[in-house]
Amino acid sequence: MNDKHKTNEAPKPFVLAPGDACDLSQIPSNPDVGEWDKKSARERIEDNVKEMADLARRLYADNQRSVLLVLQGMDTAGKDGTIRSVMRGVNPRSCQVVSFKKPSEEELDHDFLWRVHRVVPRRGNIGIFNRSHYEDVLVVRVHNLVPEPVWQARYQTINAFEKLLHDCGTVIVKCCLHISKEIQRERLQARVDDPDSHWKFNPDDISERKVWDKYQEAYNAAITKCNTDYAPWYIVPSDRKWYRNLVVSQLLLEKLREINPKYPPAEGDWTGMVIE
Ligand code: AMP
Ligand code: MG
Repeated sequence: MNDKHKTNEAPKPFVLAPGDACDLSQIPSNPDVGEWDKKSARERIEDNVKEMADLARRLYADNQRSVLLVLQGMDTAGKDGTIRSVMRGVNPRSCQVVSFKKPSEEELDHDFLWRVHRVVPRRGNIGIFNRSHYEDVLVVRVHNLVPEPVWQARYQTINAFEKLLHDCGTVIVKCCLHISKEIQRERLQARVDDPDSHWKFNPDDISERKVWDKYQEAYNAAITKCNTDYAPWYIVPSDRKWYRNLVVSQLLLEKLREINPKYPPAEGDWTGMVIE
C-alpha cells in the first residue's frame, strides 16, 4: 500500500516577513510539487479532516479561543472549493462560513468594519470568510469606490482591528489563493462552456479580468501593509486545486495543533456511575 502521504512533509504556503514588500509576480502559482500528486494529496487531506474534526470539537468544548480563516483571491481562485475540501469534517455547529458580497445600503451607511465585526467567530468556533474586509482595499481601491485618502487609511484600521481580535483570543489565518491569469481564463471559459455552471458566471468577471494588473497591485499592497506577526498572510499557489487544498488543510491543521485545545475538567468524578 502506498502510505507515502503519511510521512511526506506537506507543502507550505509562501510567507513574507512583516514589512517585506509582496510581489505576487515573483511568487509561483504552480510550483514544483515534489513527490505529491492528486492521490497522495487527497489521502493526506482525508487524514487532516479527521484530526481537524477532533481538534475543532476540543476548541468548542474548551470555549476559550477561536479561529478566523480569511480567504481572498481573484475570481475562480477557488475560495468555495477550498472550503468544501478542507472543512468537510468539522461539525457545522461550531463552524460558520460568511461570504461578503457588495455591501448593502445599510452596510454602506456604516464604517466598513461594521458588517465584519458582527460576524467574527465567537469563542470555540472556526469562522471562514469567503472574501472579507480586504475587499475594502481591493475592489474598492481598483475602482476608486471611495476617495484614495479614505482607502489608504484603511490598512492601518485593518491592522488595529485584527490586533483587537488577536488580543481577544482569535487566531487569524489569512490566505491569498494565488492563480495565474491563464488559469483564470481557462476556468472562466469552463464556466461558459458548462450550462450547469452558468449560475456562477458573472459578466462582471470579464470586466474585472480586464483590470487584472490593478488587482495584483492592490493585493501586493494589502499583503505588504497588513502582514503582521499577529495576523500573517499566507500565499497559496492555487493553479492546481489539489495542491491548494492540501496547503490550506495542512496550514489550518497546524494552527489548531498549536492552540492545542483541551476538554475542560468535568464538574465531578462520575466514573462508574450507573444511570437508572
Ligand atoms: P462572489 O464572491 O463571486 O459572490 O462576488 C461577490 C462580489 O462582491 C465581488 O465582485 C466582490 O468584489 C464584491 N464585494 C465584496 N465586498 C465588497 C465591498 N466591500 N465593496 C464592493 N464590492 C464588494
Ligand atoms: Mg464570482
